Amino acid sequence: MAGVSVNPAQLRLSAGGKSQLQQIGPLLITHWGLSGPAVLKLSAWGARVLHESRYQAKLLINWLPDLPQEQVREKVLAVKDEWGKKAIALHRGVDLPHRLWQYIIARAGITTEDRWAEISSKTLNQLVQELTQGQYLINGKGAFKEEFVTCGGVNLKEVNFKTMESRLVPGLYFAGEILDIDGVTGGFNFQSAWTTGYLAGLAMATND
Ligand SMILES: Cc1cc2nc3c(=O)[nH]c(=O)nc-3n(C[C@H](O)[C@H](O)[C@H](O)COP(=O)(O)OP(=O)(O)OC[C@H]3O[C@@H](n4cnc5c(N)ncnc54)[C@H](O)[C@@H]3O)c2cc1C
Repeated sequence: MAGVSVNPAQLRLSAGGKSQLQQIGPLLITHWGLSGPAVLKLSAWGARVLHESRYQAKLLINWLPDLPQEQVREKVLAVKDEWGKKAIALHRGVDLPHRLWQYIIARAGITTEDRWAEISSKTLNQLVQELTQGQYLINGKGAFKEEFVTCGGVNLKEVNFKTMESRLVPGLYFAGEILDIDGVTGGFNFQSAWTTGYLAGLAMATND
């Protein structure tokens, strides 16, 4: 499904049994998994809980967040009534890319030959569940250096932000990624690196 995108999708992250972070926005399926602005933001806000849970977490995806679950069910039932003799794989009735629809129905236990009239209410419930809160397991994280920006770093309380000098070790200056600053992608990390680099450089050059 690489290249398939859905906008908006709603994502909910449950890590360590205590976190319920969520994001709504564009989701992109790549050759290695899920990406796109909603995924990157969720991964940024969830960085610490994901780390604490050793990257074992659950991701719930609502592929149709514009509709309440009941309306999704009504829509699916209407398609079943209208297109009883048609193959489910080819007549989807909801606004999702074809390849994604085929993947979702397979997860609900529907084969490419199954026709709408043939599916039981249990399978129909399963389909609605997959469409509105499909569960995906997160098991581990990407390889080192694949990440865009790293969460964590030198504690900001230990740094004088006028000069970027350490409050603990005089004469030691910090800038960029080494600080505990991580912005969403879009230029904020570059800006932080440039600004802190400028301040540190200026302070070091003028320090007697
Ligand atoms: C794929 C990718 C996409 C990104 N996209 C964005 C984006 O769209 N917007 C955004 O804002 N941010 C983005 N970032 C994040 C941004 O690039 C970093 O936050 C920023 O570059 C950090 O700057 P820095 O100077 O602190 O560190 P770096 O840019 O990592 O620079 C550190 C430098 O130190 C050198 N170095 C390391 N060890 C030593 C050593 N022992 N001796 C001498 N030199 C050493 C390294 O070779 C490197 O040149 C992206 C990052 C990645 C990886």
